Amino acid sequence: FRHGEASEVVVNTPNGPVHFGETHPIVVVAGPCSVENEDMIVETARRVKAAGAKFLRGGAFKPRTSPYAFQGHGESALELLATAREVTGLGIITELMDTSDLEILGKVADVIQIGARNMHNFALLKKVGAQDKPVLLKRGMSATIEEWLMAAEYILAAGNSRVILCERGIRTFDRQYTRNTLDLSVIPVLRKLTHLPIMIDPSHGTGWSDQVPSMARAAIAAGTDSLMIEVHPTPNKALSDGPQSLTPDRFDRLMGEELAVIGKAV
Ligand code: PEP
Ligand code: MN
Repeated sequence: FRHGEASEVVVNTPNGPVHFGETHPIVVVAGPCSVENEDMIVETARRVKAAGAKFLRGGAFKPRTSPYAFQGHGESALELLATAREVTGLGIITELMDTSDLEILGKVADVIQIGARNMHNFALLKKVGAQDKPVLLKRGMSATIEEWLMAAEYILAAGNSRVILCERGIRTFDRQYTRNTLDLSVIPVLRKLTHLPIMIDPSHGTGWSDQVPSMARAAIAAGTDSLMIEVHPTPNKALSDGPQSLTPDRFDRLMGEELAVIGKAV
């Protein structure tokens, strides 16, 4: 059980420090599933920044179910993220899949994402624990809360105290109407068990863009510290996760009138 106050994770971005934690405004991370080309990543970055996001997300290395599906543009996508960071000043969050990519990824990422499929990859967890960048640790799709917290412990034990926990939906039995089941009950549970900041990802959590706004609002009502939302300029043309991606206009509406009614500052 948790002892003491909630800890905050402070991340320095070009636009200034961003604080994740219970006593701070909700931090919104938004962007496409994959970095596809310069125009789309820069346009998305501009739009999500204007709407109030503090971080741009986007995968360069993608953990796809099929080896024949788009795997991400790799190193060249990292360069495009660096461009978007320079243009907008947003912090960058991108996924690390392989310990050998840590050095190049660390040059552009302000926060290193460990994806659901790698939550149990202890070699990777030890490696990100032994470096300085903050880590966003997604919950494995079939991981218990204890397994998830122990995965975080690997990072903390290796010396890195800046860990954010991200719930992204767990696998249950419906695959037709929901991709995963977003487990919002982790919010009160984690509050009791850990001091680490909490992020909720309703995009992977539901798999369908029309479910994302309501679950984002529910997550805020339940007390999340931050949100991750997939946004793509043309979701129907996306190379990955189009069905769950909001358009920039739809994201504007969520960040404006829809979150305003909840009354917690974003
Ligand atoms: C992602 O954030 O694009 C992603 C692949 O997430 P997850 O690891 O939660 O599936
Ligand atoms: Mn995705």
